[in-house]
Parts: sequence; structure tokens; C-alpha cells
Amino acid sequence: MNVSDSEKVATVLEAEGYQLTDAEESADIFIFNTCSVREKAEHKLFTRIGQVRRDHSEERAMIGVMGCVAQLEGETLLKRAPGIDFVIGTKAVARISGAIENAARRRQPQIDLGEREDDYDWSVSPLQRHSPYVAFVPIIEGCNKFCTYCIVPFSRGREKSLPAAQILKYILDLKAEGIREVHLIGQNVNSYRPKTDAGLENHRGATPFSRLLRAVAATGIERIKFTTSFPRDFHPDIVDAIDEHENLCNWVHLPVQSGSNRILKAMRRGHDVDNYRRRIDKIRSSPREISLTTDLIVGFPGETDEDFEETMKLAEYCRFDSAYYFKYSPRPGTPAHELVDDVSPTVKKERCIELDRILRKSQRRSLESQVGRVRQVLVEGLSSRSDKVLNGHTTCHKIVNFEGPADCLGKIADVRITECKTNTLFGRII
Ligand code: SF4
Repeated sequence: MNVSDSEKVATVLEAEGYQLTDAEESADIFIFNTCSVREKAEHKLFTRIGQVRRDHSEERAMIGVMGCVAQLEGETLLKRAPGIDFVIGTKAVARISGAIENAARRRQPQIDLGEREDDYDWSVSPLQRHSPYVAFVPIIEGCNKFCTYCIVPFSRGREKSLPAAQILKYILDLKAEGIREVHLIGQNVNSYRPKTDAGLENHRGATPFSRLLRAVAATGIERIKFTTSFPRDFHPDIVDAIDEHENLCNWVHLPVQSGSNRILKAMRRGHDVDNYRRRIDKIRSSPREISLTTDLIVGFPGETDEDFEETMKLAEYCRFDSAYYFKYSPRPGTPAHELVDDVSPTVKKERCIELDRILRKSQRRSLESQVGRVRQVLVEGLSSRSDKVLNGHTTCHKIVNFEGPADCLGKIADVRITECKTNTLFGRII
């Protein structure tokens, strides 16, 4: 979501005549897009602001903060880090140029934490996209789930789904522009519930999200990925939609966080291990060989050896193709912050090592299973090590490196996988 917000801000500023620069020394304005999921990110922000102030003390560059930390801290930020010129909340990005102008004219810090305009336009200028071939398409923002460890419902607000007709039009525009792959994004994409049916009338499905998937598939855009999914709202019909439409990619990111029912309840996740396993069984039964990835938290308050054992068992059962795991750290402002963080750092570390062993094993197995097979790779870039080596993603979101001519960039190439190393596949174009 943050990359998508950065692209949008760059688009808004480009339209106002601003230019993006990679050269820090010549920048007149610094905008920090912040994440508040982990506390460390906030500390980093204050360090970076201090650095900019020191390096630009003479010419006095302007400094702005946007994103979740801006939304949560608002005016407090100005006290914690003097020298900030503007603070833009998560829904105020379209008004950023006004904040910059007012801060410059009035020589006073500006704060805008207001709501998004009803007719907010998510489209991004081609020049500001992270890739010329792949585009993010936000479909829902905010979150209503209130997991006890998470700050997102407070920083991003309640779930708000974008109108399907607007999403579909945007995707058709992207297709016409030459975009090959779209990523439907949101905190919980499968909680998608637009106010009206407009755009979905001709598409069946058990939930608005699976109807949207079928509607997006019908646009004919070549590849569609979506992230993140929330287990409780993950209806089996999503897998049926993937089975029916080849352009719906065979990759599902379904964070589970823990394999212990006791801990899932304390996290207020709204699902238990059995419901999660049923979803996994459905995903694994697909003939599309859907790749499955997840997120896990290690050492949530009260997590015993037995609870952690349950997480290990679930990880073995699910055979995740890849997983991110984090040591729990309390986040101020969340209900879990009130709990005693009673799993010692040493135990958290030991559990991470054990979990890593299981996850690496399943990731390795998943990568090895690709060797010898032909995969369609969207060629997205050149390797940083050699301009003869290209790289890109498969439909199941695995990275592949292979030798090939630069004119393959932006095309979908058939690549035979010849080798796998750590997290990466290597192949030969055919
Ligand atoms: S579902 Fe839970 S973890 Fe995900 S954004 Fe919402 S509150 Fe946070």
C-alpha cells in the first residue's frame, strides 16, 4: 500500500510541475512515507529527519511526512521532530501540493489528516510507476478487523471499497497502455464490499470479491495478482475463480500469524486453525498448483512452548511456498501493548530459528519442484550483476533469473527452470 501511495503522491506532484530526484543533495523537498506497523520504522524516521536537517542546514530544504505515522501522530510529530514543514495523513495525499504551498507561503507547518475526496482518482502516471509492466490497483483501503497487535485500523481507518466500475475502467486503461500485470491491493482484499453492484452485474460469484476477480479476468488483462487476503473472509469460491481463469495468477498470500487457537484468540484474528486448514486444503486441491505464502508472528504475549509447537505443526502441514515471520514487539496504541511481553528475547530468537528451519525446508521443496518445468515469466528487469541476465516473476510469484536479450523486457517469456538457489530460480529461455 505504501509503494502505491508513493506513486500517487509522485503523480500529484508531477502534475503540479514538481520533479522527482534521486540526488538527495539537490532536493528542495523531502517527503518521508512512513509505516507504523513496527515501532523501529518510527525511530528510523526521526534519525532520517535529523540527517536531512544537518545536511541541508544552509539551503533549508522542506521536510514532509506522510503515511501511517503521519496519520497517527499528527501534531505530536511536530513536537517530536522540530523542523517538519507538513504532515499529510493517509487519506490526504491528493492535497499534498496545497500543504507544500501553504507551508512555504505562511512559513508555518501544515497538517492535513482529513478524509479522502469522494471522487478520489487512484490512477498513477506511467512515469511514476515502480514498473512499466506491472501496476498496483487499490480496491479496498483500511481495515475493520482490529487484530490486537496491529495499528492499521487506527492508522488507515475503516474498510472502504472502491467502486467496481471505477476499478474495471482503470484496468482497461492500464491494459491499453501496455501494462501486462495488475496487483489488486488492500489490507484485506477479500473483504471487498462495494456500496453498489455497478460493474459486477454480469459476473457471478459467492462474494463481491470473487465476482470482482471474474470481472477483472474478463477485461483480458494478461495477469492478475491480489494481496493481502484475510483467512476468515477467504471464500472457497476465490479458488474456483482462479481455476476458471488463467489470467488470475496461481498465488495466494494468506497470513495465519499463529498455529495455536489460544494465541489466535488472544490476537483476535477471528479464525481458528481448523478453518485455516480447510482453506489451505481447498487451495492445495486446485489443479493450478497455487503457490501459498503467509506471515507469522513469533513470541506473542503468553505464547508457550506448546503454542509454538502448534505453529510448527501448522507450518509443516501447510508447506508454505514462502513465509515472512516476525518476532513480536509491542506496538503502542494497540490492545496487545497492554499485555505483558513475557516471551524473552532469547526464547523468541530460538523459536525463530526453529521455525525458519521448517519454512526453509518447504520453500526449498517448492523451488526444487519447479526445476525442469517451463514457466511463463514476465520479464521485468536486468540483473544488477550482469546486463545479459534478465529477471522476472512467474505467475505464482517466484523470481526467475535467466540469460536473454534485452528486447525481452516487458514480454512474457517461456523459461525452462534449470536450477534453484536459496530464494531464486534460474532458467533458460526457450
Ligand atoms: S487484518 Fe489484522 S493484521 Fe491485517 S491489517 Fe487488519 S488488523 Fe492488521
